[in-house]
Amino acid sequence: MELSTRDPKLETRNFFLLSTLLLSVLFSPLDSLAQNQTRGVFRQSRILMGTSVEIIISRAHPKTAEKAMEAAFQEVERINRLMSHYRPESEVSQISRHAGKKEIRVSPETLEVIERALYFSRLSGGAFDITLGPVFRLWDFRGGKIPDGEKLRENLKRVDYRRIKFDRSRSTVYLDDPRMEVDLGAIAKGYAADRACLVLKKEGIENFLVNAGGDMRAGGRKEKEIPWTVGIQHPRLRSHFIARIQPQNAGIATSGDYEKYFLKDGQRYHHILVPSTGRPARECQSVTILAPTAMDADVLATTVFVLGSKKGFALIEDLPGVHALIVDRRGSVLLSPKWPAGVLLPP
Ligand code: ADP
Ligand code: MG
Repeated sequence: MELSTRDPKLETRNFFLLSTLLLSVLFSPLDSLAQNQTRGVFRQSRILMGTSVEIIISRAHPKTAEKAMEAAFQEVERINRLMSHYRPESEVSQISRHAGKKEIRVSPETLEVIERALYFSRLSGGAFDITLGPVFRLWDFRGGKIPDGEKLRENLKRVDYRRIKFDRSRSTVYLDDPRMEVDLGAIAKGYAADRACLVLKKEGIENFLVNAGGDMRAGGRKEKEIPWTVGIQHPRLRSHFIARIQPQNAGIATSGDYEKYFLKDGQRYHHILVPSTGRPARECQSVTILAPTAMDADVLATTVFVLGSKKGFALIEDLPGVHALIVDRRGSVLLSPKWPAGVLLPP
């Protein structure tokens, strides 16, 4: 098995094993907590946004690191309060609750995320769609049930990003069908990671890594000579990595079909759906995106997963600083042509 940037094709085999890790921050085996702290590395995880959010700060004064860490976690919580569709009082829930009735004035943050989501929806011809909620809800991945076809077709009529009315100057959002909903599940964690990084920088932190459930943003380096290193989970082999990536001041995210899924009659049903059919995307096993922000990486991992390698590579071709590593449905690893040298290492 060989993996280098010159040899972008790596054959992997198909196995059916459960795994929940998409991307992991890698430390050497000697990185015990005590050693981390003597070298000025501070790590903390909290359960936020329905996932584990981890912040790592390196080479900082303990007092500065502690204060910055707290402020960054507070920021993630604040973003979640604005954007979670599980919280009835969030701005996103208000938009859905008032669908077809009235427009909702939202914060600049919610506006920014919805605007970015719509940008990528248009760019991808609807492969990414934040109005997927009514269809997504019909899938029961834990219970392993395929939704009724009739119900799926009915709820698909409520899915269409073009019916989100968006007014930047007045900071309002409106859904023009009362049965529509907004779900920022495939973009909000990336955005929260970006916001947390902004706060860390404001607090004087230069070397950091924020991991919001697999949507990451890295700044600076882990050590003077050592960049941050992130392992990409093998989509079929639990506890195996297919590669390591060293992101430099960039966002990185992975979408995979092995996180929330069930198997039925030899078919895999998972949580990334094709908005036009309401059924799981079949072209890829996993997609990892490097991008200037974690928000863009988060959105594009989902979007390229839906589009597949051919259309996916074509989509990111013109986006500056965006690169993709795709494990296609046969298990082949494909890299986008301009993947930066030295950023991808063997597992
Ligand atoms: P995760 O959030 O599990 O890491 P993704 O970032 O790929 O994975 O987002 C998947 C989530 O996004 C789903 O749980 C669902 O809420 C939503 N989603 C699924 N398919 C799409 C799609 N085509 N466009 C937009 N959102 C999607
Ligand atoms: Mg995503």
